[in-house]
Amino acid sequence: MNQTLLIVGSGFAGSVCAREMAEAGYSILLIDKRPHIGGNAFDRYDDAGVLIHPYGPHIFHTNSEKVFAWLSQFTEWRPYEHRVLAQVEENLYPIPINRRTINGLYGLDLDEAGVQHYLERVRVPRDTIQSSEDVVLNSVGSDLCEKFFRGYTRKQWGLDLSELSAGVASRIPTRCNDDDRYFTDTFQAMPREGYTAMFERMLDHPNIHVQVGTDYAQIKNAKEFVHTIYTGPIDAFFHYRYGKLPYRSLRFEHQHLAQSEHYQEVGTVNYPNDHAYTRITEFKHLTGQVHTGTSIVREYPQDEGDPYYPVPRPENEALYQKYKSLAEQERNVSFVGRLAQYRYYNMDQVVAAALKSARTLLEEIQRG
Ligand code: FAD
Ligand code: UDP
Repeated sequence: MNQTLLIVGSGFAGSVCAREMAEAGYSILLIDKRPHIGGNAFDRYDDAGVLIHPYGPHIFHTNSEKVFAWLSQFTEWRPYEHRVLAQVEENLYPIPINRRTINGLYGLDLDEAGVQHYLERVRVPRDTIQSSEDVVLNSVGSDLCEKFFRGYTRKQWGLDLSELSAGVASRIPTRCNDDDRYFTDTFQAMPREGYTAMFERMLDHPNIHVQVGTDYAQIKNAKEFVHTIYTGPIDAFFHYRYGKLPYRSLRFEHQHLAQSEHYQEVGTVNYPNDHAYTRITEFKHLTGQVHTGTSIVREYPQDEGDPYYPVPRPENEALYQKYKSLAEQERNVSFVGRLAQYRYYNMDQVVAAALKSARTLLEEIQRG
């Protein structure tokens, strides 16, 4: 019997588990089918020397002191508060909607209480909040819904707001004050030397052997490992026995602009109603890098391609529950992460889920 633990996927889920289990004395074989570690959080320098996120912009934020402290073993941080503007009818307004959005859009001069009153008047109250449409209409009403949410959501998911669970639109708050930060978490910062450097340190342990460019399907002796931690799509693990779980994909169009030091005034500009892309992100805002040129990415949502987003809606959750029942019968496999747990997790939530999984696994092993 092989005393090594197999971990499939080197994103946050797989890498955090690898480090925890290595610290506990296990030897680890960590594989990823991609040619690099870090999963979707992987970053690298482009040909012009700008640090970019090939799989779309990744901004770290968390309210969990535990998660922040755990990651801080492997990186220093650069404080960064993300700001986003949305283009509506040729003008740019803060999103999440705040006082400046309302005043700018409607030519008003409301104070905080005035904005609260305004929203009270335009909101379409819903008795029960089930869909993302309920969330948006209930908080900001029809006009703001059409201007900022319905088109963006249709592009991003290929679905109407009414077809998505409440959790999707609930990610975006509504504010009556001037706070224009995208997130309000206690800890908001970027790994000072980037995500990949942080992952390299996390995996730099004598018990961890990393093998990229290796698909789980190539591991012929998987059953001989003492345990497997699987962080890929759960439906793929079970060979799509109950059919495919929908995951939304993206095409990333990266561009370097050698002649401009900056492309836009904030990290991200959203395009709810214009263009085929949802948003443009300029990396230098996120990383603080100083460079004479700048690099941007446009995100084009699509159905086919790498699985990036689980699609939160009731029928998909029901299908996931069927796969989860199969997963629970796999005594020697743990399923962790955004794809394996089919959860719209942010990075910090994946770290927390991975720490929990590793702890549970160690307890189970100790109990025999
Ligand atoms: P992943 O990072 O997807 O890692 C899974 C790994 O498993 C992949 O590397 C994959 O190649 C590998 N794998 C899959 N199947 C196999 C197989 N059969 N064999 C071998 N390897 C396999 N979160 C934030 O907190 N802030 C953000 O700003 C943010 N922005 C995002 C932007 C985009 C465009 C996307 C798509 C996600 C964003 N996220 C963000 C979410 C973040 O990417 C995830 O929470 C996190 O990276 C998930 O980690 P994971 O390990 O679960 O999955
Ligand atoms: N959303 C929107 N308009 C926006 C921003 C977000 O309609 O300008 C909706 C959309 O459905 C999106 C969801 O809110 O998918 C969550 O947005 P977030 O920025 O958190 O998405 P992510 O960064 O995960 O792609």
